[in-house]
Amino acid sequence: MSPANHDAATRAWVEIDLPAIDRNVGRIKLALPRHVRYVAVVKANAYGHGMPEVATRLMQAGVDCFAVANVEEASRLREIGHEGDILLLSPTLPGEMARAVALGLDITLNSLAEATALAAIVNTSALTAKVHIKVDTGMGRAGVWHEAAPELFTYVRSQARFDWRGIYTHFSEADSDAGFTTEQRQIFLRLLALVAPAEKARMLIHADNSAGLESFSADSPFNAVRIGLMQYGLPPSAGSFLASLKPEPVLSFHAHVVLVKDLPAGTAVSYNRTKVLSRPTRVAIVAVGYGDGVPTAASNRGFFLLHGRRCPILGRVTMDQTILDITDIPDVVAGDIVTILGAQGKDRIAVAEFCAWADCIPWEALCTLTQRVRRVYRTDRT
Ligand SMILES: *Cc1c(COP(=O)(O)O)cnc(C)c1O
Repeated sequence: MSPANHDAATRAWVEIDLPAIDRNVGRIKLALPRHVRYVAVVKANAYGHGMPEVATRLMQAGVDCFAVANVEEASRLREIGHEGDILLLSPTLPGEMARAVALGLDITLNSLAEATALAAIVNTSALTAKVHIKVDTGMGRAGVWHEAAPELFTYVRSQARFDWRGIYTHFSEADSDAGFTTEQRQIFLRLLALVAPAEKARMLIHADNSAGLESFSADSPFNAVRIGLMQYGLPPSAGSFLASLKPEPVLSFHAHVVLVKDLPAGTAVSYNRTKVLSRPTRVAIVAVGYGDGVPTAASNRGFFLLHGRRCPILGRVTMDQTILDITDIPDVVAGDIVTILGAQGKDRIAVAEFCAWADCIPWEALCTLTQRVRRVYRTDRT
């Protein structure tokens, strides 16, 4: 499967394979017990894939609701007409609360101070706040520290204008340390025992992200999962169950060659002499750099595909351009397509491989694709 030469004037672009989203969501849903809700995580511009298009497709594919990082991201979902539930995953600033309530968002409470600020806002309006409590069971990031959680439960119950709709935690080692994850789970389960069955019956109760799918069981007390990376087709870890779901990468990343030339031996390519040519070399200058999302860590290490073959990056990746060694590849001309992530011809550069030489994690490789990179949405693949 090779990229379409859809528009020769586009310098760097990502192709978003929308039908792959349908297939990924379908497989994840099949793997989950039927009562478990699918919370689709679309923060950071849907992991760089483009929020409106991807969110619309996810909805059509049958996810139950969305989660985003903040009010601004949530408002973009409202703008495209999404009227369903949207969970804010991060703490909300006092200055954002009125808007969060007005937009009907599901607000995550992480502290008594945050809850008090929200109460002050709803108590002076006719509105009700939909709230979820996030518990920190050991990650040390968002959420109320578990020992302080019962106090927050009591406060939330005392507020007539709070609608308590959920409780959740986040596992920090879900893809690396099963023992610690079990400890976190047990802390969370002990707290859940303090929530009345009638309260729980109305709540989303969840802890698992994509990595958590590896061990999600039908008798789990949790009735929702928060799925990010897997729906974009990337398993977060090498787990065999995740691999068995055969996730299909949704995104591929391409750019055009803008210049081909021959350089003599001894030329120092790109900045700072990190690469001095040992032989006469034909190079291709590609219209993509760290200004598009190719990290400088890939300098002198990474490869791009051109004519279906691997070409090493020469010298430092620059803001707008990257230089490839194409000495062994005949007939390259300006306008040819280079693939940075994804398949070209018979070869493929997987996100995991890109991450190894770009020194980043898969979430990061996707999120650092910049605005300059055009998003092209394909609906034609099956
Ligand atoms: C981003 C995020 C997720 C999604 O994680 P993936 O590993 O991408 O599935 C889930 N829960 C929370 C709290 C998050 O911030």
